[in-house]
Amino acid sequence: MAELTRFYNMFQPTHYNIFLDINRESKQITGQTEITGDAQTQEIALHQKGLKVSKVQADGSDVSFITDNENEAIRIKLADTGMVTLKVDYTAQLTDSMMGIYPSYYEIDGEKKQIIGTQFETTFARQAFPGIDEPEAKATFDLAIKFDEHAGETILSNMPEIKTENGVHYFDTTVKMSTYLIAFAFGELQSKLTETKSGVQVGVFATKAHKANELDFALDIAKRAIEFYEDFYQTPYPLPHSWQLALPDFSAGAMENWGLVTYREAYLLLDPDNTALDMKQVVATVITHELAHQWFGDLVTMQWWDDLWLNESFANMMEYVSVDALEPDWHIWELFQTSEAPAALQRDATDGVQSVHVQVNNPAEIDALFDGAIVYAKGARMLVMVRALIGDDALRLGLKNYFAAHQYGNATGANLWQALGDAAGINVGTIMESWLEQPGYPVVSAKIVNGRLVLSQKQFFIGEGKQSGRIWQIPLNANYENAPRIMDQAEVDLGDYAALREQNGKPFRVNVGNDSHFIVSYDKVLLDDILENVNQLDAIDQLQLLQDLRLLAEGNQISYATIVPLLNKFSESQFSIVNDALYRLAGDLKKFVQVASSEEKNLQKLFDQLSANQVQRLGWLPKTGETNDDQLTRPYVLNAALYAKNADSIAKAHEIFIENKDQLEALSADIRAFILSNEVKNFGDEQLFDRLLREYQKTSNPSYKVDITRALTATTDSALIDKLVTKFEDANTIKPQDLRAWFRGVLANPVGEQAAWDWIRNDWQWLEDTVGGDMEFTTYITVISGIFHTAARLQEFKQFFEPKLNTPGLTREIQMDIKVIEGRVQLVEDEGIAVNKAIESLV
Ligand SMILES: [Zn+2]
Repeated sequence: MAELTRFYNMFQPTHYNIFLDINRESKQITGQTEITGDAQTQEIALHQKGLKVSKVQADGSDVSFITDNENEAIRIKLADTGMVTLKVDYTAQLTDSMMGIYPSYYEIDGEKKQIIGTQFETTFARQAFPGIDEPEAKATFDLAIKFDEHAGETILSNMPEIKTENGVHYFDTTVKMSTYLIAFAFGELQSKLTETKSGVQVGVFATKAHKANELDFALDIAKRAIEFYEDFYQTPYPLPHSWQLALPDFSAGAMENWGLVTYREAYLLLDPDNTALDMKQVVATVITHELAHQWFGDLVTMQWWDDLWLNESFANMMEYVSVDALEPDWHIWELFQTSEAPAALQRDATDGVQSVHVQVNNPAEIDALFDGAIVYAKGARMLVMVRALIGDDALRLGLKNYFAAHQYGNATGANLWQALGDAAGINVGTIMESWLEQPGYPVVSAKIVNGRLVLSQKQFFIGEGKQSGRIWQIPLNANYENAPRIMDQAEVDLGDYAALREQNGKPFRVNVGNDSHFIVSYDKVLLDDILENVNQLDAIDQLQLLQDLRLLAEGNQISYATIVPLLNKFSESQFSIVNDALYRLAGDLKKFVQVASSEEKNLQKLFDQLSANQVQRLGWLPKTGETNDDQLTRPYVLNAALYAKNADSIAKAHEIFIENKDQLEALSADIRAFILSNEVKNFGDEQLFDRLLREYQKTSNPSYKVDITRALTATTDSALIDKLVTKFEDANTIKPQDLRAWFRGVLANPVGEQAAWDWIRNDWQWLEDTVGGDMEFTTYITVISGIFHTAARLQEFKQFFEPKLNTPGLTREIQMDIKVIEGRVQLVEDEGIAVNKAIESLV
């Protein structure tokens, strides 16, 4: 196994001169890199991966070198230590891996075209040029690029172009920065440009396959986000421009390259006249996330990958802080509660989960670090806790000082806590350490014991978990004043309950606002008190109640059967996020019923009960002037009505389809997915299937693509499922970046489960070759573990994945996912009968 040594300790670069000649036709890259730096030892190493190095010179003289592919290195022996300029000549291949320098493919009017772009995070800059490819090794860069250029092409990079000579494009010298943030791209691009109040050039770039107005939304958000951050951080945007570029092939969601942020098309471009509000919100948060990084991550960078959370948690919080300022009517923190909070609470409840801060011992583990639910979502919840503790004034002052102290350099988590703590006068570091270094989170039990109100904390698990006495410093945010601000002990006695209840005049609650990363288990008296007064709770607190109950049931601490009757209590809610929590809980019941059984019929009746009035109230078609909550609630209830096989809804959706059958893309994006799914499921044939698949290939509208994916994977025709699975490896139909959604859709469809499961087991090697070097790879395993719930599938899962336990980067995921499925199988076994009885008694 490759060993992880830091090359920066041997050689510290200060400046790079990089020349690249890229030929798309031959897929050949010819490069020459000059690196000036300080050699600490005579034997040094530079990173490289897949480079064919022909010559290395030190201060103009040839030196001997060894290519060490196992360690992704060139080993060089110098005559002396001290300042030296190295020159490396090499060639490399353009590969279709979505890493390093790679082509993105698209079509205009049937003509195949490509854009060359880059993805260097985490350790892929070394596929483009040799260097010290570690975040700490900051240097300045002069980039010069030549390519097989034709008229009408544009080239972009981190810095503005300063001249073109003999077909070589020269870019201005960068500021001091890390290698993983270097980027460039070229091809036929369209753009929209503007300028911030402070004079930063802002641009959005995309292929010409898109309509020009698809760039407008992103341009507006990007401009205002930079203005917001310059003010909030009290630190100017550090570069002359901020380009946002949509790439047709892109593995992650987006990448914060400094000055040239790259995005999946679906996360940057949208039709301003027909995009669902929730999709607009997602696009806005992706843009504001990446732009938050331009300071936090790019200007000040984590010292090493173990502090990746520092970058990601922070950007993940700031995306909401900024969107909330830019679009206050959206109540964007509600999205935080329906996306980040449940993701973090679910995954962090599995024994064996990583802590937010985690050591990195092996290169393959760097990519495995990107556990979205932990490093992004849980980390963001931690910072939301900090923000709630110290307030925005201290947060802003702390950040300003943090940027001033570490700009163009690196920092650790401790540096951030220090800066925020100094600004707030609180020891933030001590409080946060328990959250940062310990995996998991606590359930706080609130109980009346001998008339006294007692709180206790204990680690919460879904599935099997071993208590190891972990204690967290919990910002309680209770609504009774005598509760401590921070609960740092296993148990705390708040006093006589009757007196407290009387004195406070309201039901006792903790974690009000759901800002802290824990769940609450109330005893029956306390819970009944809350439920009797539930209408006094705001939307987030109602969501939290349902969410915590669902998690407690998943963790086998209360019975699902006891919460089934509560569903009706919330079904008329006009808060979209309460409906989110409600239907998530209702959806969880599906694992207890077998397809087409009498139990499933009962569950369908329950879904019908829950949704019928709301479907009536909202109607199938969006109405002008309706509230955001109504717009966002409609998808939940329509989806429920279709699952319930409500005859009126099926007929209505079919009618809308027939009326619009020549213009499906123009259907309202709010409901298009349901209209198409209903049609495929209940009225579909091969002709419709083929038509939708063709439209999927042809359209440049990302949200239409998502809707078609949903519809086609819902087919109940097993022949069409088989046909679909044969398309999985056909990149002309389904791009590798989009495959996981197709795989998930087919696997989650009872008619398709077997076919998808067979496919991934048979073609695992293909999958590994195609997306294996990538941070998204392990999420295919997560997807499977999110769906399987029978003993037979558990057995097959183990049989297939246990032999892969020693694969670097997969170990933790496989161990966790076995636990996840085991826990679910056990739950279904223990609770199935009682849950189905509870459902039956309601319908
Ligand atoms: Zn990020």
